[in-house]
Amino acid sequence: MNTQDYIKREEKYGAHNYHPIPVVLERGEGIYVWDVEGKRYFDFLSAYSAVNQGHCHPKIIDALTAQAGRLCLTSRAFHNSCLGEYEEYITRYFGYDKVLPMNTGVEGDETALKLCRKWAYLKKGVPENEAKIIVCENNFHGRTITIVSISTDPDARRHYGPYTPGFVTIPYNDLDALEKELNDPNVAGFLVEPIQGEAGVYVPDDGYLKGVSELCKKHNVLFIADEVQTGIARTGRLLACDHENVRPDILILGKALSGGVYPVSAVLADDDIMLTIKPGEHGSTYGGNPVAARVAMAALEVVKEENLADNAERLGKVFREEMSKINSEMVELVRGKGLLNAIVIKPRNGKTAQDVCLKMKDNGVLAKPTHGHIIRFAPPLVINEQQLREASSIIAESIKSFD
Ligand code: PLP
Repeated sequence: MNTQDYIKREEKYGAHNYHPIPVVLERGEGIYVWDVEGKRYFDFLSAYSAVNQGHCHPKIIDALTAQAGRLCLTSRAFHNSCLGEYEEYITRYFGYDKVLPMNTGVEGDETALKLCRKWAYLKKGVPENEAKIIVCENNFHGRTITIVSISTDPDARRHYGPYTPGFVTIPYNDLDALEKELNDPNVAGFLVEPIQGEAGVYVPDDGYLKGVSELCKKHNVLFIADEVQTGIARTGRLLACDHENVRPDILILGKALSGGVYPVSAVLADDDIMLTIKPGEHGSTYGGNPVAARVAMAALEVVKEENLADNAERLGKVFREEMSKINSEMVELVRGKGLLNAIVIKPRNGKTAQDVCLKMKDNGVLAKPTHGHIIRFAPPLVINEQQLREASSIIAESIKSFD
């Protein structure tokens, strides 16, 4: 079978809910992936920042296979011998009293919202069914009914109503708008991405997260950080919140928590919040399973052992410098933090960000447009400087080929 055969089969039998770049991958190692024709590419998407540790990291795969051969799933009807060790490990790692393990990012967000509402009714004293949670325009937190209810993206929302009530939307990066809404005593929490990834890597002003943290404290409202995409060293710190030394009341992690080998997400909080959820009030069959526990511990160890945050910080600067040097009218703006970056593309002669991505694919670098005109660049954090420079020159040549 060739590339087209694989693509046609997916189109025939699979739902058409994605529009992939036409490449069929069959193998990955470190920063590289190979297609079914044997061609090698630099992966500059990392499965939307899930593969921070690189494809098939041997330590994580060893943890996966060793545990998979012993015990995979017990459900939470019983205890398992890995979960407590993982819970102790991850809570110490991030500095919280407790963790609630889930599987996907969106489940992490849903869990955080439920936890926030529980806390509002049981601790803050908000009247039942009156709690409000503030969210931001252009957010991305996943795809469930509640999460698309709080989206402002018409493609994510249209025809999925009626929508979940209880949310207030404000502009991102706007502390005045936040403070205005916080005056409502029924506000329970503020859910925010420290950098808006899917929206096109929007980095807020310096001081925004610090301001958010202070305002939430002042108004007795929970600061909920969705670090599903920005967390686990991607932006040059372990958490993007660490850039401003702020500690969210509820922290949501996913994606790279497993290094891209298995769906693992987590919600972290202290006891006064986490213990408001009692047995039977929330859960998931797979959440906290032994394989997930072992995989996540290995994935987090790799982040520290290989200094991935420092590497992302250092090489992110090199990358933005290289991209800013590209002499093309198509490059409107380069922005990002660590190794989460984007180029805003100005269409030229009818050629768009999609055409640039197709050209980069032909030249050996994989990336994907977001919102039509923005290309996000997020290589695995195990990339070295020479590899980064090589990929950067492929990206530059690809863009310049349209001039
Ligand atoms: N939150 C953020 C910030 C994300 O970027 C994403 C996915 O891109 C999600 C949540 C949803 O994660 P998942 O696709 O694993 O449900």
